[in-house]
Amino acid sequence: MRDATASHLDPRTCLHPDVETLDVGALRELQLRKLKKMVACAYEHSPAYRALCLDAGVEPRHVKVLEDVARLPFLEKSSAREAYPFGLMMCRRESVLEVHTTSGTTGRPIPIFATRHDMDCWASLNARSLWMIGLRPGDLLQNCFSYGLPTGIGFHYGAQKMDVGVVPAGIGRYELQIDLIVDLGVTAIATTPSYGLYLADRARERGIDLATDSRLRVGLFGAEPWPEPSRRRLESLLGIEAFNEFGMGEFLGPGMACECPEQHGMHVWSDAFLVECIDPATGERVDDGAQGELVWTSLESESMAMIRYRSHDLSSLTWSPCACGRTHPRIGRIMGRSDDALSIGAYVVFPSQVEEVLAQFEEMGNNFCMVLETSRDRDQLTLQVEVRGLGDLSEEARQRLSSQVSLATKAAIGVTPRVELAEPMSLPRMTSGDGKSACHRVDDKRGI
Ligand SMILES: [Zn+2]
Repeated sequence: MRDATASHLDPRTCLHPDVETLDVGALRELQLRKLKKMVACAYEHSPAYRALCLDAGVEPRHVKVLEDVARLPFLEKSSAREAYPFGLMMCRRESVLEVHTTSGTTGRPIPIFATRHDMDCWASLNARSLWMIGLRPGDLLQNCFSYGLPTGIGFHYGAQKMDVGVVPAGIGRYELQIDLIVDLGVTAIATTPSYGLYLADRARERGIDLATDSRLRVGLFGAEPWPEPSRRRLESLLGIEAFNEFGMGEFLGPGMACECPEQHGMHVWSDAFLVECIDPATGERVDDGAQGELVWTSLESESMAMIRYRSHDLSSLTWSPCACGRTHPRIGRIMGRSDDALSIGAYVVFPSQVEEVLAQFEEMGNNFCMVLETSRDRDQLTLQVEVRGLGDLSEEARQRLSSQVSLATKAAIGVTPRVELAEPMSLPRMTSGDGKSACHRVDDKRGI
């Protein structure tokens, strides 16, 4: 590891400068070399992956240049499930050091295996992300992601790899979480944006302002979509600089992509992952920077044949240079999932669009729910939104706010919602970091 003290004053310094600033041509060559090895290994050792290749009429020898990745079959979640439990495994069972699973919110969880090499790689990539956002030895990170199945334990390993202390707080017990942050002098927090806002609100109820009464200075947020205005809210409520990170349970979780201090997209650690951005309908690659679905290939795993895995996450991908000097490509904020799309009347709507609208209103609390019902054969959307200081608003002010929210929502998604204002903390909350889906904020009662 690089000498920590040498770069202590420059938060932009890389933990692994040789890799993070590798010339793009050399980075792509490295990716091709690793891809060839990965495909050959998967074809030989994973029965499920070999079957996919045989169906597609593709063999490892067909991968000659990096663009040939497009010849390989996509791996869908359904195929990964059918391979339960060992069909995608490439290593011997005796070599497995840790097992995790996907969240299983939409079906049977997929077991994900990791060898010692995989664990080392995972810790290393997470350390690289944490270093990039300014953590240094001596910091204390409160990790409020799940330690079960699925897991956010990657941050824990990453922090310890770079000599940063960890409070393995996990999820829940918010009173204790607040006490620990204040009393232990915690300097960094990793959690979902909604839980971060929740902690800030709960602390305020106890007369604690985490922005001034704690030593928090950095926050790392992920596992659910969050609009840009939430960054400012998290930063002011917690007194931190807030960064966005990305990981998927299918690839062990955190450590795949993270924002640099430029905060203009998340660098994908491309010595370990090959990411493509495709048109979800045709499967063809979209132009650099255009919106599409992200497709992921592990280039380092010894244990799982995760090759061209369709995430159904809608985002964008660019290889354009970043001002921070890192050469690894960047993905944009996750806008939603292609399978999260809701059909409301004639419109296709993503919950993240509604969240974006609500975040523009200062009065809004931290939670909302889209209730869908059928009324006289027509879809009816009711938008329940938590409002700060609702009790202090006059009837007239409430009506004005409802009408403004309704108009702004109509302008963004085409559908006019009925708006119901709710007290803070009164709506069901999304508190587990078990996926990027915003579906928890949808209550679809149609057809019931
Ligand atoms: Zn950058």
